[in-house]
Amino acid sequence: MKVSKLLMPTIREVPAEAEIVSHRLMLRAALIRKLAAGVYSYLPLGLRTLRNVEQVIREEMDKAGAQELLMSALLPAEAYMQTGRWDIFGSSMFRLKDRNDRDFCLGPTHEEIFTETVKNEVRSYKELPMTLYQIQTKYRDERRPRFGVMRSREFVMKDAYSFDLTQEGLDASYNAMYKAYCAIFDRLGLDYIVVDADSGAMGGSGSQEFMVKSEVGEDIIAFCESCGYAANEEKAVCHPQKKEYPTDEKPMEKMETPDAHTIEELTSFLNVPAYRFAKTLIYKVGEQYVAVMVRGDREVNPVKVQNLLGSAEEAELAEAFAVRDITGAEVGFAGPVGLSIPVYADHEVMEMKQMVVGANETGYHFVNVEPGRDFTPAKVADLRTVVSGDVCPKCGGRIETVHGIEIGHIFKLGTKYSKALGLTFPDENGEEQPVIMGCYGIGVNRCIAAVIEQNNDENGIIWPMCIAPYKVEIVVVNVADETQMRMAQQLYDMLQENGVETLWDERSERPGVKFKDADLIGIPVRITVGKKAAEGIVEFKKRAENTFSEMSFVDAAAEAIRLVGEAKK
Ligand code: ATP
Ligand code: MG
Repeated sequence: MKVSKLLMPTIREVPAEAEIVSHRLMLRAALIRKLAAGVYSYLPLGLRTLRNVEQVIREEMDKAGAQELLMSALLPAEAYMQTGRWDIFGSSMFRLKDRNDRDFCLGPTHEEIFTETVKNEVRSYKELPMTLYQIQTKYRDERRPRFGVMRSREFVMKDAYSFDLTQEGLDASYNAMYKAYCAIFDRLGLDYIVVDADSGAMGGSGSQEFMVKSEVGEDIIAFCESCGYAANEEKAVCHPQKKEYPTDEKPMEKMETPDAHTIEELTSFLNVPAYRFAKTLIYKVGEQYVAVMVRGDREVNPVKVQNLLGSAEEAELAEAFAVRDITGAEVGFAGPVGLSIPVYADHEVMEMKQMVVGANETGYHFVNVEPGRDFTPAKVADLRTVVSGDVCPKCGGRIETVHGIEIGHIFKLGTKYSKALGLTFPDENGEEQPVIMGCYGIGVNRCIAAVIEQNNDENGIIWPMCIAPYKVEIVVVNVADETQMRMAQQLYDMLQENGVETLWDERSERPGVKFKDADLIGIPVRITVGKKAAEGIVEFKKRAENTFSEMSFVDAAAEAIRLVGEAKK
């Protein structure tokens, strides 16, 4: 491809709308353009990269025995209504009606549709196990679309679904996907870790996420350097950490604490550390309200609250009016003593002595409160969020937390969808058994952003060979020089004949402009044809390295062909 013919409107200045490196570079290198919040067009360089990522995924999925098919993005509502997800997706689902007033959505994920397809098209249990996948566009009206294609409202997902008759079968299908995912992310050159994830109230029995460690990641990963334990924040198990408390007994007392609504305000007002307080937060889970207690220096993990209740609905902080109704006080003064709704306490709360809690009366707290004596929780469980310095639940080592980008997710679904939609087969006794399912997703566009986050420098993107939109870029220093142009043409032809996707910058721009663009768009190999063309010599440079070497143009072509071939292995 000649650069003069390519739609490659690179941008020099840093776009104001973009907060993170990958987003900035995807705009500057002319990969994407924004159409609306979380909605992007792919320009030629972006599309080629996207197709390359898809191809890597496709090859590894096929190798793992999965079959590709393609579903519509426009989906009738019925199956989602049958599984309850028409409601559960809430405002994150794009909904529409056809001319006959029939409900449709733009598919946010396709469990329902794959389940129905297998139900309708698979004739006998003998055809199972089976894993089906597609690489297809998903729609989610995200609350906070941001960071470019990292969290967008339209995105490409590879979603796969496995169908098995036994639990062991599911394990095998799941493991095959695990391996395929490792192969995919290895080939994409991503530095990732696999973390245990919450499978919670979805009825699943196991779930893992593939995470790229990155400061811009929206997920938090807890991991242990000593034993390799890794879990996402929602799932990470927390053991109680000891603190020193007074040992004598004192009666509970009510104390006036005007204007002290937050833990910070309270700690300074009473002049005691945060771990002497217990926070009591009112959560709404579906239709139910519960009070959740954690130590004052801790945060509640709402997913753990949801799971403790076995609810399909997320646990959300109750609205102020509900808090007022339940506690009889303004927000900030809730406490466990005399509360009418169930109190769930974190393990650490039960180890506290002479604690401070809200008195369910505006402007007042109780001090010297003893759990078990002054209040008894309905349940005691691990309800807090993991922090750096926590103790590893596996080996007792030290837990660190870092931010991560979720690029893939594998999930043992079990029978939730097959039961809801009636995907069953008769067993040897003639009894109908629900099919056991797994689902497996990769965010294709998000992978591109993650690759860029991990592979860039101040000049631009540094593509790994396997997904680079072009593998080699030829830059001609002086296009008015016939010798240079002739040699570049020869090089270009040689590379093309050998199947090397090559970009040829033959624009009559200053060399500096061309080099800047070449660095920005990050093509792995650059061959510069300049003054020494007359001697048959060119300059060979890898984008990932700062040094270049001079060699004959034939050697340069051979080296480029070799590097491209190597990346295919
Ligand atoms: P997240 O927690 O980031 O919202 P999710 O748990 O909702 O993701 P899944 O339903 O498991 O995501 O989707 C599978 C994969 O699709 C994710 O691992 C992620 O890589 C990708 N993905 C999900 N939502 C988006 C989005 N809004 N934009 C881009 N990629 C996404
Ligand atoms: Mg997920």
